[in-house]
Amino acid sequence: MGRDPESVQLVAVSKTVPVERLREAVAAGQRQFGENYLQEAQPKIVALGPDLRWHFIGHLQSKKAKAVVELFHLIHSVDRLRLAQALEAAAARRGKIQDILIQVMMSPEDTKSGAPPAEVPTLLKEIAQMSHLRVRGLMTMPPWLPPEEVRPYFRALRELRDQLRAQGVLPADAVELSMGMTADFEVAVQEGATLIRVGTAIFGARPQGVKPLKPED
Ligand SMILES: *Cc1c(COP(=O)(O)O)cnc(C)c1O
Repeated sequence: MGRDPESVQLVAVSKTVPVERLREAVAAGQRQFGENYLQEAQPKIVALGPDLRWHFIGHLQSKKAKAVVELFHLIHSVDRLRLAQALEAAAARRGKIQDILIQVMMSPEDTKSGAPPAEVPTLLKEIAQMSHLRVRGLMTMPPWLPPEEVRPYFRALRELRDQLRAQGVLPADAVELSMGMTADFEVAVQEGATLIRVGTAIFGARPQGVKPLKPED
């Protein structure tokens, strides 16, 4: 498929996984972890020390901006202006440049979070005025469908990124595409993913009742 392996990074999604098992993954060489729930992530991040890279991949409430900015290197789920403003304020107070992705809702029938593609340019132009947020690219979570049926959503996210970069709405270096999970990461890589978010394939099935697609509120 012509992808340089270096151009795809594996984010190990460790929600519901106890810290002892994360230690095993660290010992095996894994350095990047994704968490959906702030309260669950906090003690793990503290326990595992400063050498890891943490990704916030869940739905994010503005009131949690401060804590998330303190703990996470990349926030994948920025999808509205008010949240961006809260993150900007938190990052400014902390003197940090916060890396973020814009979460895009690629399927209209979807009720999950994410900005509709048509609203992404406006959101990006607002964020471009904020001096403590650095947009690294786009993220999406397609509907639950067989891998070949999610391919068009992944492709559409790549095309949106390319179009926004060509228009100068996305910075030239904002190349990241966070897409693909256990069921469909191979298709996502074929369509240009630079960050894949894989939980089950690494840590096994999560306890029942913990739904991957309905993060905290
Ligand atoms: C849980 C989760 C994943 C990982 O899902 P798996 O199917 O276990 O690989 C990826 N992205 C998000 C946003 C999630 O909530």
